[in-house]
Amino acid sequence: MNKNIVAVLSTTILPVDGTYQVVTLQDSDLTEVKNIIEGIPHYIGHPSTKEIVESFGAVVAPTNLFEGLKSGESAICFSIRQGMSSRKTEGKTVDQDITLDMLSIRLITKISAPAWKCAFCGTINYGGYLCGQCGAS
Ligand SMILES: [Zn+2]
Repeated sequence: MNKNIVAVLSTTILPVDGTYQVVTLQDSDLTEVKNIIEGIPHYIGHPSTKEIVESFGAVVAPTNLFEGLKSGESAICFSIRQGMSSRKTEGKTVDQDITLDMLSIRLITKISAPAWKCAFCGTINYGGYLCGQCGAS
């Protein structure tokens, strides 16, 4: 997996607008996941999910606030699989004991959008369809 992983998250937190590619990883990718998240900061507070990612070598991030991905950067998300969360029945997940098979592991990559020059005003834009200067599409 040739990815620039910068964070391990518990949900698909996307604080920055942009185009993202989201891929759910298969169990067969797990060995590789363990290798690539070693030493990567995690932003996970949920106790048993935290235990799992730390057992894979992820380290506690210096801050609780994940500031988002830059173009070309990826994050690995360990979120509780749909239907496995106790949020629905108990209204919270904090005390829930999680095992690895209850987690869905997803790789999120922020796509670097190609730069383009507006035919109307000549402004160089990065991504999107509307010119940031004149609003032409
Ligand atoms: Zn323009």
